[in-house]
Amino acid sequence: MTDRLPGEEIARLSGRDMGFGKYLPGVPLLLFALAAHVGPLTATDWPLTGLNLDLTRIAIIALVTYGLMIVHELIHWVVLQGWGARARIRFGFWGGQVLTGDQPMTRTQFAMMLLAPLVLLTPLTCALTWWLYPSGIWWPVALAGTAHAAGCCVDAYLAAWMTRLPAGSLIVNRYPEPLRVFRPANVS
Ligand SMILES: [Zn+2]
Repeated sequence: MTDRLPGEEIARLSGRDMGFGKYLPGVPLLLFALAAHVGPLTATDWPLTGLNLDLTRIAIIALVTYGLMIVHELIHWVVLQGWGARARIRFGFWGGQVLTGDQPMTRTQFAMMLLAPLVLLTPLTCALTWWLYPSGIWWPVALAGTAHAAGCCVDAYLAAWMTRLPAGSLIVNRYPEPLRVFRPANVS
């Protein structure tokens, strides 16, 4: 395994290192997503109609939340394929997980992989919310879309953490090892 390491290790980050901090980006993400989904509707004549909860709405919340989770992991996986990583994807009842493999990635590659689901899916759930607004079943989609955006907190935390790494760093995320950062051998 050692022969695959791309240089000198300069940092690592485990789940334990992240602690509670990994959830903190969820607060601004939640507020931003809520404003993005619901904000434009407040300009209409009947802003927040259809707020009742029934079986249909419960089913929409569950289906959209679960669907977003699956598509979220698939987007991570597709971007990883683009970077040449031998990524694997696992799905369980409570969601999915992408194992990035041992391909070293630059900070930009890793950050794009992390943020792609948030950036691609949030406009989609916003558009879906507005489109469904006249039918009165908009808010379950708005709720699921907002929950998804807030759930991107760990991805956002990691992307922010990466901005503090030196330029040229290579990142290896070999499950279940901590995330490891290397200075490439050919960079002094
Ligand atoms: Zn993610």
